[in-house]
Amino acid sequence: MPYNLPGKRSQEGWEADLKYVVTGRSSVAESVPLVIERGEGVYFWDADGNRYLDFSAGILTASTGHCHPHVIKRLQEQVPLLWHVYAFPTPQRARLCEMLTEHLPPQIDTFCFYTGGSETIEAATRACSSYRKAYLFASMTHGYHGRTLISRSLGPSLLNKVYGPTVNVCHLPYPYCYRCPLKLQYPSCGLACIELADDLLQGSGHEPLAALIFEPIAGAGGVLVPPPGAWQRLVEICRKREMLIIADEVLTGVGRTGKFMAIEHFGVQPDVMTFGKGLGSGFPIMCLAGRRDIISSYPFGEVGEGGASTSYGGNPLGAAAALGTLEAMFAEHMIENAARLGEEIRARLTPWVEKYRVVGDVRGLGLLWGIELVTDKTSKEPYPAWGWEQIYHDCLNNGVRLVPNRICPPLNITSAQLHQGLDVIEATIQALEKKPA
Ligand code: PMP
Repeated sequence: MPYNLPGKRSQEGWEADLKYVVTGRSSVAESVPLVIERGEGVYFWDADGNRYLDFSAGILTASTGHCHPHVIKRLQEQVPLLWHVYAFPTPQRARLCEMLTEHLPPQIDTFCFYTGGSETIEAATRACSSYRKAYLFASMTHGYHGRTLISRSLGPSLLNKVYGPTVNVCHLPYPYCYRCPLKLQYPSCGLACIELADDLLQGSGHEPLAALIFEPIAGAGGVLVPPPGAWQRLVEICRKREMLIIADEVLTGVGRTGKFMAIEHFGVQPDVMTFGKGLGSGFPIMCLAGRRDIISSYPFGEVGEGGASTSYGGNPLGAAAALGTLEAMFAEHMIENAARLGEEIRARLTPWVEKYRVVGDVRGLGLLWGIELVTDKTSKEPYPAWGWEQIYHDCLNNGVRLVPNRICPPLNITSAQLHQGLDVIEATIQALEKKPA
């Protein structure tokens, strides 16, 4: 039986909360007033006792599921010992760095920790500017890097009229094959959109450029998986200009795509990486990692006004949560699970493009998948926003919680749970097909 949301207790809790808390937090969280009370593994429960399969892992944060027993254990060990004394080393942080270096490319050997993604991106730009003595950046049109001044400038910025001008960034076309910016087809296009980057960088008047920042798979931009060779060629073009390469893996990192870092799928070597949505299983810890010569360059790598420091970065509780997360993830082979289930999703979703009038494209890797809805397959007219709202509501009422257009459950979901969730999504797509767009 569908839930008929919201339940009474959720409704009451929501009204009490709304008196005090800002609206505009999240379009989906606000469209059905739910109060969430507890989570365990791949499920969470609302205040009325309804259970949901979490197909978005928090917001790609609950990588090991909600309240994983080993992460709880690590946190419980740390809670009575020490919460925070600023930047002093702790055994947990040292062990965390050791573990990270075992799984990251060998040149990535120096770390700074933060609590949010935007803050980490800002720090990455400061580190690269320190090293290159240049402050202009290139990024990709469909990237999302955050909401602070530099991070929002790196993405397509829609709110300059309200928030004021962004900083100067050279935006390069994302190799988005389903909607090719040049209306060409891969591979006969010869990666023409990437070749354009050379001219755009040359003509941008932005030189010297400090770095290129890009998401190996654009997440918020619609789960855009680039065609083979695209990142290799782009990196080659940027290296010719001595630009550094920053892989923003805030969303794609820590096992999400079936490798520890998504960049491993594409055969390029970044100089700097940002990651961490899944690093603390939902506990706020993010990481900037990079080549030692970059991260320790002046002023970023030195004590003082321009340094890497922040109030809470790398605090003992965050480090304990991250250590617990990595230990659980490796002990339980969650990254392999993500890779294997990614192929099950591919096999299940690919036929939907033929089968359903409204499914224009499906794409993804590991446990990060996107579904693009259209009103017409030939014109590729995007489906109006209410299409996903409808799917979101129907899924929720049937016990599955989504981020619209994405499938990104915890990395320890089982095949049976995954297919239960996909059954619900498929039924909601079938229901949508019956309505006029
Ligand atoms: N980079 C990427 C790739 C992201 O997906 C996000 C957030 N979705 C950010 C940076 C910004 O992170 P935060 O919301 O924690 O500031």
